[in-house]
Amino acid sequence: MINQRMYELGAAPNKIRELFAYGMDRKAEIGAEKIFDYSIGNPSVPAPDEVLEQFQFQLAQDPVIVHEYTPSPGDPNVRQAIADHIRRTFGTPATAANVYVTSGASSCIAITLAAIANPGDEIIAISPYFPEYKTWSENAGCTLIEVPATTPSFQPDIEALARAITNKTSALIINTPNNPVGCVYTRASLEALSAMLRAKEEELGRRIFLISDEPYREIVYGADVPWVPDLYEDTIVCYSFSKSLSLPGERIGYIYVSDLIPDAGDIFTAVCGAGRSLGYICAPVLLQRVVAQCLDVPSDVAAYEENRRILTEGLADLGYEFVEPDGAFYLWVKALEDDAVAFSERAKDFELLLVPSDSFGAPGWVRLSYCIAKETIENSMPAFAKLMEAYANDRA
Ligand code: PLP
Repeated sequence: MINQRMYELGAAPNKIRELFAYGMDRKAEIGAEKIFDYSIGNPSVPAPDEVLEQFQFQLAQDPVIVHEYTPSPGDPNVRQAIADHIRRTFGTPATAANVYVTSGASSCIAITLAAIANPGDEIIAISPYFPEYKTWSENAGCTLIEVPATTPSFQPDIEALARAITNKTSALIINTPNNPVGCVYTRASLEALSAMLRAKEEELGRRIFLISDEPYREIVYGADVPWVPDLYEDTIVCYSFSKSLSLPGERIGYIYVSDLIPDAGDIFTAVCGAGRSLGYICAPVLLQRVVAQCLDVPSDVAAYEENRRILTEGLADLGYEFVEPDGAFYLWVKALEDDAVAFSERAKDFELLLVPSDSFGAPGWVRLSYCIAKETIENSMPAFAKLMEAYANDRA
């Protein structure tokens, strides 16, 4: 006997990974330069020099200590360094006691949901959303409730969110800067969201957590990214170094339970319990110590900004409709037919790998990851022109 639910999850297709795998095969078949792979969010910018220097420095230390276990929530010095960084950067009274170091945003969110929700609860996500929110919510025994963002700005729809909150709601997950849309929630949006959540907490006599999923916090093109714990008391931040320091395969990030929550200590204890029960203890020690020394190293966004310019100018010239991105490295483009899956399939005829929006809980769009070589974007423009032409010919 095996667990049927887990079997089904393992067998369920993941469109992004499928498209990525298809791209690998296709590249081997006809040559990498002929494939325009916009499928996956793997940073194309190398990790900063400081990261490499820290790897070398850490590896040169006492070989027993380099590879030792740390306490389950992380090396105390690393937790302290992260708390200090939060205090320096945002002026929040952060303490090491509320920092849990773990393997990237994925484990941060899985742990947080397991810590704060009970089976039968509801978790709200704003669609389009990162697909794994559903997996992690369901693993915590909860149901994911999808509430569409407003269009065309893709900011949270406060009234719709208010309508979706019930006496089973435990948390709302937000992600700004956003994957897949690339929008950044404005301060006004977040203030309105916080006011609504506070009112709902009072009305229902129930705590509603705001889980702020922030792997793209530093990947912005001039936009202000408000610090969510300043705006809403019951906030838990899930942070990752995957994108900011270009370390996606190294699996490192942290949970920060806001010190402004009066019973933050109890919540943190539940986070430790969830981490323990899920097996996410003692994050990779080398990585803990490397990132602790690189917390103030700026993300290199210049290459993404240039890619954004080339892609948006090129697609606008061809007549594509998209959301102007203020952050992350994704472009949300309107499909040229209602069925985004069919559109993505047709794009493959021109070697364009575009992820259909259905994967993110929304119909009619595709996501383009532009964290790829600039030349790939430049060389893909004739393919986008042919794709547009193919649809024009259909209509003629
Ligand atoms: N949340 C969002 C919105 C993401 O885009 C990603 C990764 O792409 C994750 C979470 C997971 O990040 P990590 O690689 O740190 O587990």
